[in-house]
Amino acid sequence: MNEIAERFLTHRVENQPPPMPPYDAWLTDRPLRDALTREGGGWAEDRLAAFGPVVGGELMALGVAANENKPRFVPYDRYGHRIDAVRFDPAYHAILSLGIRHEVPSFAWRNAGRRGAHVARAALAYLHNQPEQGNNCPLTMTYASVAALRRQGGLADAWIERILSTEYDPRDLPAWDKTGNTIGMGMTEKQGGSDVRANTTRATPLAAAGPGRLYALVGHKWFFSAPMCDGFLVLAQADAGLSCFLLPRFAPDGSRNAIRLQRLKDKLGDWSNASSEVEFQGALAWLIGEEGAASRRSWRWSR
Ligand SMILES: Cc1cc2nc3c(=O)[nH]c(=O)nc-3n(C[C@H](O)[C@H](O)[C@H](O)COP(=O)(O)OP(=O)(O)OC[C@H]3O[C@@H](n4cnc5c(N)ncnc54)[C@H](O)[C@@H]3O)c2cc1C
Repeated sequence: MNEIAERFLTHRVENQPPPMPPYDAWLTDRPLRDALTREGGGWAEDRLAAFGPVVGGELMALGVAANENKPRFVPYDRYGHRIDAVRFDPAYHAILSLGIRHEVPSFAWRNAGRRGAHVARAALAYLHNQPEQGNNCPLTMTYASVAALRRQGGLADAWIERILSTEYDPRDLPAWDKTGNTIGMGMTEKQGGSDVRANTTRATPLAAAGPGRLYALVGHKWFFSAPMCDGFLVLAQADAGLSCFLLPRFAPDGSRNAIRLQRLKDKLGDWSNASSEVEFQGALAWLIGEEGAASRRSWRWSR
């Protein structure tokens, strides 16, 4: 470079950290390793050790890609049929697939009853959330749904089996035709999130009322993340008060359920996560537990 060019150099990179090379997110995290053992999850160390290099390597790169190309709402197909679909960057699906294969949502339940199982799951989720936050939402909701679904044996048993699968199945099919399911949640409405008792979404039984029975939901949710999940735990008002429902994305007859996405949220971050606003126009859902249970008491944690 000549002297003049050297003098007028406009772009120098100084005092910046070097690019981060792939690393082992488990081995390099001493406090996390100590906490796992201290809290009774030491027996799951192998599971975490297998995930650490994936988190610090492949997942980091995928996380960047999943947020660069934001999800896109596709309300109709090319023929004008309502499909209420969201298209994601392939990286988003790849991250979900890796998380599910490494048992982020399922580990605690696959080892149910074993002391420290939920601690180990928390450590897995802690690792998984570092490269990419958007997947945190569906994977945490999928994990958490099992505690509620276990209250509704029979109907929920087959769902739980698919939720605990280590295979991610992104196909746009009814949950029961897939090899693995993910679960979202719909609680927050426009008039408030913390105070769910103020929910206005209405649930009317199609025939007989009661646990495991079908109801039609009419109302809205102001925050409905990961709307491509296979089913959703949703709160709505039944005659006896606020109740929990399992709302499948496809109705029991295999048609698209009346879950109408309105738009995707324009957020400051967490872009890969397609948080949506939604209306239920007579969407069919099964009652989980007793009517009114969600307003009477909080469900006790069960291992
Ligand atoms: C990225 C993202 C994804 C989300 N995805 C979902 C989803 O999939 N499904 C879903 O149902 N919801 C979802 N939510 C909504 C979230 O759960 C709500 O934002 C949350 O429940 C809080 O509700 P709110 O925003 O209406 O706040 P508010 O309830 O209006 O609370 C506002 C403030 O007041 C405080 N406050 C509220 N009540 C009290 C009280 N009684 N005493 C003292 N302080 C109080 C709160 O701590 C908070 O600081 C999502 C939110 C975000 C940001």
